[in-house]
Amino acid sequence: MADYDVAIVGGGLNGTSVARDAAGRGLRVILLEQADLGSGASQASPRLVHGDLAGLERREFFRVRRALRERDVWLRIAPHLVRPMRFAIPAHADERPPWQLRSLLLLYEHLASRSGLPRSLTLDVTHHPVGNALKRPFGTAFEYSDCVVDDSRLVVLTAVDAAARGAEIRTGARVTRAERGETWRLVAIDRGYRRVITTRSLVNASGAWTASVAERVLRVPAPQLATVQISQIVVRRLFDCDNVYAFQNSDGQLIFASPYERDFTLIGSVSHVFKGDPAIVAMDVREVAYLCEAANRYFREQISPADVLRTISGANSVVAAGRRMGGGAASLDYRRGKAPLLTIFGGDVTTARRRAERAVSEFTRFYPMTPRWTATAPLPGGEFAWQRFETEVDIARDRWRFLGEDQARRLVAAYGLNVRDVLGDAKAKADLGPAFGAELTGAEVRYLMRREWARFPDDILWRRSKLGLTMPQADRDALAAFMAKPD
Ligand SMILES: Cc1cc2nc3c(=O)[nH]c(=O)nc-3n(C[C@H](O)[C@H](O)[C@H](O)COP(=O)(O)OP(=O)(O)OC[C@H]3O[C@@H](n4cnc5c(N)ncnc54)[C@H](O)[C@@H]3O)c2cc1C
Repeated sequence: MADYDVAIVGGGLNGTSVARDAAGRGLRVILLEQADLGSGASQASPRLVHGDLAGLERREFFRVRRALRERDVWLRIAPHLVRPMRFAIPAHADERPPWQLRSLLLLYEHLASRSGLPRSLTLDVTHHPVGNALKRPFGTAFEYSDCVVDDSRLVVLTAVDAAARGAEIRTGARVTRAERGETWRLVAIDRGYRRVITTRSLVNASGAWTASVAERVLRVPAPQLATVQISQIVVRRLFDCDNVYAFQNSDGQLIFASPYERDFTLIGSVSHVFKGDPAIVAMDVREVAYLCEAANRYFREQISPADVLRTISGANSVVAAGRRMGGGAASLDYRRGKAPLLTIFGGDVTTARRRAERAVSEFTRFYPMTPRWTATAPLPGGEFAWQRFETEVDIARDRWRFLGEDQARRLVAAYGLNVRDVLGDAKAKADLGPAFGAELTGAEVRYLMRREWARFPDDILWRRSKLGLTMPQADRDALAAFMAKPD
């Protein structure tokens, strides 16, 4: 008998979502990720959980409605990670007439009718905080509701839930060879050791590596795919209000500027066809300049490439015909006497849960499994209603009185109700062990190492949090020394 029912190559959002779905349906699952969870394209998404307003202009009404339903699902199951925001579209004289935008927003709201999010408004930005950061002569902006997500934490908590339901998650485990018979026999280099695994079916969720894994590791015909890179920039905070600004640049490209980790602004995104090693994805200087210019067209505060504190880039596979990340794709290859192979790649964050659900359902013709379940089961720590987020922050501050407001908000956003497992019975900050920077404590680092597969400082500083944006070098060094000997 094979060791597992399903082995998954790749620990991005697609791979972890398949692992979670399959483990919860009673299958024996292993996920192998060559680096860290969410270290590929899944940490470089535009961080939006949305129906995609622009989809309405392309008349993709059913797709937009489906995505809006998924937005509601995420708000229900991940109220700590997925946060409702007010998006503002300043009306620019050169662009589409205001009545057209207003009608689009009304239709968008109609399609999202059960969401419970605040409705859209027309703002006079000459007398509204949204206008403070904008250049003159913006007089009007349209405000509507959508959501943002911490994408790499979403990947990690999806893996935590998969593990809680029995999946084995291995990071630092690269699949190097596979032989296909009635079962699959995989060879992986797992933290330096060669490991052989047998599995009844295999899922190729290796993102930008999909074609090369197919060809070189699985030795099956590679799907016809192109690779596209997406990039964003982080600058110091450009505005004080909590809105996400959505701009249509002069070339028609939609640009978002979002509040990012309290003191910063995330501006994106740009994409181009990528050639090269997906493990080394760097942003082009022309793209950095492009995003700065796009922001300068709207904001009073002007930025140049020298103001960019960080660039965020990732590459993923797309169907060769299209440059844009379409709906993502999943396909099953099954032949008599040959174990099944499912390939899943691309797509957006909003529809990842459903994409995985449909993909795993393909296996029902091979194995008995329990019904679909992921739309109603909260991710770890997400057992509260999204409207109660601020209440949960207050509860945390009441219980751990040494927490500052910002720190409490960060912890609740990252761990939800599981913040109690991170802080335990601590009465004072000193009870949480050494401090790294203003916020990170030994207790949190130990928790991330024991429960969330963190192995190196970057796993914590960039994927399980974004504390790397503010942590001084001396504290990073201390963190590295602590992680080498955490107990
Ligand atoms: C151009 C572009 C546009 C995008 N647009 C959007 C958008 O509009 N909206 C949105 O929400 N998101 C968007 N995204 C991001 C989207 O979030 C991701 O594509 C999504 O998270 C799915 O990622 P994934 O799991 O397929 O791939 P990844 O996150 O890259 O995961 C694949 C993983 O496989 C691992 N791997 C590879 N080979 C092996 C091996 N041999 N053994 C073990 N592990 C291996 C890699 O290390 C990697 O971690 C975009 C991404 C790109 C690149």
